[in-house]
Amino acid sequence: MLELRPSCENCNKPLPPDSLEARICSYECTFCAACVDTVLHDVCPNCGGGFAPRPIRPARNWKGDNFLGKDPASAKVKHRPVDPSAHARFAAAIRTISPHDR
Ligand SMILES: [Zn+2]
Ligand SMILES: [Zn+2]
Repeated sequence: MLELRPSCENCNKPLPPDSLEARICSYECTFCAACVDTVLHDVCPNCGGGFAPRPIRPARNWKGDNFLGKDPASAKVKHRPVDPSAHARFAAAIRTISPHDR
């Protein structure tokens, strides 16, 4: 199950469970859309993978107790800002490789 982390790891912007700006990598490293686009260049600084929009977990109990009331979002903040120039080099190197060979 996704943790639904509370904020962007780079800029610390709050990303509540219904945020349309939350982006996650396959390990659930969590960033805001602006940081993914302008700082990370769609390369995760922790694992080198790409990002996808984080799905919204329902706030209401539509079906079978699968909702935020039973499975709340994480409150554990991870704030580890990236060094933009070091990350730009890392991202540029990875982006020269075809997605299927990464
Ligand atoms: Zn951010
Ligand atoms: Zn990652």
